[in-house]
Amino acid sequence: MTLAEWETQVVERVPKQLFVGGTWRDARSGAAFKVEDPSTGSVLCEVADAGTDDGFAALDAAVQAQPSWRKHPPRERGEILRRAYELLMQRQDDLALLMTLEMGKPFAEAKGEIAYAADFLRWFAEEAVRIEGGYSISPNGQSRFLIMREPVGPSMLITPWNFPMAMGTRKIGPAVAAGCTMVLKPAQQTPLSALALADILREAGLPEGVLSVLPTSEAGGLTEPLLRDGRIRKVSFTGSTAVGRKLLEQSAEQVLRTSMELGGNAPFLVFDDADLDAAVEGAMQAKMRNIGEACTAANRLYVQSGVADEFARRLSERMGALRLGRGTEDGVQVGPLIDAKAREKVQSLVDDAVNRGARVLVGGTAGDGDGYFYRPTVLADVPQSSELSTTEIFGPVAPVIPFDTEEEALAAANDTEFGLVSYLYTGDLNRALRVSEALETGMVGLNQGIVSNPAAPFGGVKHSGLGREGGTVGIEEFLETKYVGIGGV
Ligand code: NAP
Repeated sequence: MTLAEWETQVVERVPKQLFVGGTWRDARSGAAFKVEDPSTGSVLCEVADAGTDDGFAALDAAVQAQPSWRKHPPRERGEILRRAYELLMQRQDDLALLMTLEMGKPFAEAKGEIAYAADFLRWFAEEAVRIEGGYSISPNGQSRFLIMREPVGPSMLITPWNFPMAMGTRKIGPAVAAGCTMVLKPAQQTPLSALALADILREAGLPEGVLSVLPTSEAGGLTEPLLRDGRIRKVSFTGSTAVGRKLLEQSAEQVLRTSMELGGNAPFLVFDDADLDAAVEGAMQAKMRNIGEACTAANRLYVQSGVADEFARRLSERMGALRLGRGTEDGVQVGPLIDAKAREKVQSLVDDAVNRGARVLVGGTAGDGDGYFYRPTVLADVPQSSELSTTEIFGPVAPVIPFDTEEEALAAANDTEFGLVSYLYTGDLNRALRVSEALETGMVGLNQGIVSNPAAPFGGVKHSGLGREGGTVGIEEFLETKYVGIGGV
């Protein structure tokens, strides 16, 4: 089979309808929208476009399925997740190709995301049987406390386009493990991975109504009435801070539980006592994973003055050697950005930095072709006043900002309303602990450029969000605590 035939086949195979109450069907309005390949700008296919009626049908299904789903034995809930994990891994290549086509990331990275996404299902398959309550004696000895853990209830899940499969499993995994029913709204630009995932979960035995998946071209129009309805009890969102804030406002009306995984502006600190090769390697990972379109992407690289020029030189060499192109081609390491608007934003941030005195060491311009390519870019001597110090770049641009003292680096790193992750490279143990404690972020990569791991608590502070996904605390986001006070014992 040729690559073109394989591409056609994976797109043809994925369901293009809405998944509502265990059934594939068209939108009630009959509407559909186009899904584009960002590496060519061409249309891949059309998918059904959910409207308000479809939203309420999915909510009805979730509400109806909730009472029996919460009683479903935890072991069986775990086994459904485990089967889905196996199916994702068996179909890793097809699912990776589908993701590359709709989102643009290189095939090897897409394969990595399928494995990462599957791992959330495996992790929460294991967590489903470890939901613990408690029993204790009251301090005055006159009653007993019985602590119960219960599913929160029907949950609205909203995911972004940058990790189309993993952001879905990171929410579906704990919701299934906890016994919550779900309505998932994937990003408009990448609905295919979510639809493929729904079909896999159906095949793995997820009962009807437990999960509905609704692609839509009217995100707010679909989700707002559901959040205000009163039957949804939880919203779990991954996306921009601006949209997260709106959802928090809407959630206030029905006092919903919320999990918010929002934007980032990660500082990457390199001290002159660091292993410089390791720091450059870590910077490549922290900056270039997902074409720079990651909430965890290193946004500002603060490097101590004594090693700043050498660091920038080595980083430029590595960035300049990366191969840009369509993610399906062999050897391509950097795919296109998601759309023309994203590319314009990256260019304007680079232009602003250059106008303020930054030097372009490599890149600095859009790539060739019809897709939304941008060349891997390193900027040196970037002034802290540049717009990209305060704005999430979401592209393959590494601004190197020199600093002199630890205090100066910390002040600059924390000078942002975001607080998702920071990275720190140093060979001094005391400094490592001191700076890790002082960084105002939910996560710190200490001498490592990637923090994401299904077994670790992922999340941010400040405007980067509320709650944690993954790790042993991930399931808590979908559980309520009930206390029964027992008298007369
Ligand atoms: P976005 O514009 O906020 O979109 C995220 C999701 O929200 C999409 O499904 C989108 O639907 C939906 N949405 C948009 N407006 C909405 C509204 N008014 N009501 C309800 N839903 C709405 O973010 P994005 O551009 O897709 O993703 C990039 C952002 O996500 C970055 O800021 C990045 O840092 C953040 N992110 C955070 C994490 C984390 O774990 N902290 C992980 C990944 C990404 P449409 O697609 O239809 O617009």
